[in-house]
Amino acid sequence: MNQMILKFPARSENEVFARNAVAAFALTLEPSLSELSDVKTAVSEAVTNCIVHGYRGREGWITVRCRTDGNLFTVEVIDEGRGIADIEQALEPFFTTQPSEERSGMGFTIMQTFMTDLQVRSKENEGTTVTMTKQFGTGQADVG
Ligand code: ATP
Ligand code: MG
Repeated sequence: MNQMILKFPARSENEVFARNAVAAFALTLEPSLSELSDVKTAVSEAVTNCIVHGYRGREGWITVRCRTDGNLFTVEVIDEGRGIADIEQALEPFFTTQPSEERSGMGFTIMQTFMTDLQVRSKENEGTTVTMTKQFGTGQADVG
């Protein structure tokens, strides 16, 4: 078991930092390149959602917590922003509350596709926690 916690301001330039920091931490599990790339994509979508939807470009903090347990990798992306009124609806492919800003509404679908499991907890005006897990070592031989 290993853990780490990151906390950084909700600015778009920190999305690159967050996904690479999480990927660097995940290296302890000796993931394949494709597993690593899956984690980066999912973290990138979750962090972007905090910035775009949670805080809507306003100031705020994003917390990213990671945990490894055997071959199981868990990452939580947390904001204290607006929250989600209807989580079930938000998870539907192509559902977006910001179609005007060229959002396709596929972020959660991408996270679900690239990770083994996704859970969303949210409360309006309190914030959102997205918890994703990935089981490493289920694919082909490691190249990472
Ligand atoms: P895309 O990710 O394709 O650019 P999107 O962000 O709208 O578009 P999803 O990532 O699937 O699509 O999110 C769906 C909807 O869930 C968002 O439009 C938004 O209403 C809501 N949502 C997602 N994350 C958050 C969050 N952290 N805080 C508040 N609302 C959120
Ligand atoms: Mg999104």
